[in-house]
Amino acid sequence: MSDARSGVVYLVGAGPGDPGLMTARSLELIASADAIFHDRLIPPGALAGAREDAELVYVGKAPGEPSVPQDEIGEKLIEAAQAGKSVVRLKGGDPFVFGRGGEEGEALRAADIEFEVVPGVTAGVAASAYAGIPVTHRDDASAVAFVTGHEDPEKGESAIDWEALARFPGTLVFYMGVKRLGDNAAALIAAGRDADEPAAAVERGTMEGQRTVVATLGTLAEAIEREGIGAPALIVVGPVVERRETLAWLERRPLHGRRIVVTRARAQASSLAATLRGLGAEVVELPAIRIEPAIDSDEVLNAIEQIGEYALICLTSPNGVRLLFKAMDRAGLDTRSLAGVTIAAIGPGTARALAKRGVTADIVPERFVAESLVESLQTVEVEGKRVLVARAADARDVIPEWLGNRGAEVDVVALYETVRETLDPTAVKAAQAADYVTFTSSSTVRNLTEALGDRFPKGARIVSIGPVTSEAAREAGLEVHVEAERHDIDGLVEALLADAAR
Ligand code: SAH
Repeated sequence: MSDARSGVVYLVGAGPGDPGLMTARSLELIASADAIFHDRLIPPGALAGAREDAELVYVGKAPGEPSVPQDEIGEKLIEAAQAGKSVVRLKGGDPFVFGRGGEEGEALRAADIEFEVVPGVTAGVAASAYAGIPVTHRDDASAVAFVTGHEDPEKGESAIDWEALARFPGTLVFYMGVKRLGDNAAALIAAGRDADEPAAAVERGTMEGQRTVVATLGTLAEAIEREGIGAPALIVVGPVVERRETLAWLERRPLHGRRIVVTRARAQASSLAATLRGLGAEVVELPAIRIEPAIDSDEVLNAIEQIGEYALICLTSPNGVRLLFKAMDRAGLDTRSLAGVTIAAIGPGTARALAKRGVTADIVPERFVAESLVESLQTVEVEGKRVLVARAADARDVIPEWLGNRGAEVDVVALYETVRETLDPTAVKAAQAADYVTFTSSSTVRNLTEALGDRFPKGARIVSIGPVTSEAAREAGLEVHVEAERHDIDGLVEALLADAAR
């Protein structure tokens, strides 16, 4: 494995839509390329790992939009490679399966440009698998054909031999076939394929909101029309379709069909969102707040300078940990300067963030609230000692006040501010039909309710991470339906699962 080389074009498959189905090689090349030319149908976040200075060029073809002609795409790739760039050409699914990767490779060869092909998981296999349809099966199908359901109209006579396909002894998988399914099915049946053969359409395979419609070859077009199935969708014809009755798995996941709003700051949202997605939920990310680091202030610089002189350091969030270490790093310090300092973490997430940096917290309360940390601190002698509380700018004063009352000499420094995030209108719209809204802190409650106003989803059940967050939600006029017993992300997910299973 190696980084993208300059002057080389990589024809890379991005898979069918689920970001988890991108190959290791594709991610590696995306992370190192100078330029990335991409299609429309690539997984959400596929380019998130690209270099900040990488040139990202959209060359997709959306229906009803002016598209970049194929020749021009080839020319752009050649130009970029000749300019000495490492170039990734990122396409949905596999580049050589109805992806015009062949044509692009030929254009590159003609221009004497070196290229590499990185296969991707093709929709024909992936969407079927996510629908619980094995495209081959020992008893049902010992062959599978990938067919285009949409011929190039300029080709004149159809290149598809319907007679041969009607006789084909195996599964037929049609790409680009939704619009013309009626005609194609009729052609197949006229050529002798059984109208009663099971057939399915899989819409948005492997993506959020995937839908599958099962009918027969004769009735699928009508079923698709009735259900409003649209692109991208794939058609599967063959007895294997019936295996779905036993093998459908996507729909059986505990949060399937539930739309859940995640309100954490974008940088932190990913783990909760990923967990919920893994359980089958459709996640709408509506980050209400953003973390704005504030580690350049004099108070922070002062505290860092004397970091080893504190008897106790209290950390109140994983972000606090991350930024404290960043500030230390900038000052040329590392964990060694914390030797001998007692470290208290407000909860397991904060403790984990410390552990990742090689520091085991001395004090971690059971429950994830300031009062609980205070309780755990009872055992620590703080009178006359120097204590650092490193936290968010707008945090509550429970901990510093308590420490002050116990005679500690307390320095409180703000490592970051939580500021309101601009809401994405598409996400706000999607949130309207949410089944759940999750809250992991009182600041997200306040910021989201204020930002949404009367656009706050009315029918959603409110899930809160703990009593302080619940209180903030009630103050904001919300009814809290679910409160986690354990006040961390796992606890919140557990409570949500229990509620969904009601
Ligand atoms: N190179 C791609 C196919 C591109 S052709 C691949 O290997 O998958 C585009 C067609 O692929 C769409 O019209 C649709 O039929 C199918 N397709 C692509 N992504 C899909 C998805 N997520 N679900 C269902 N069909 C999909």
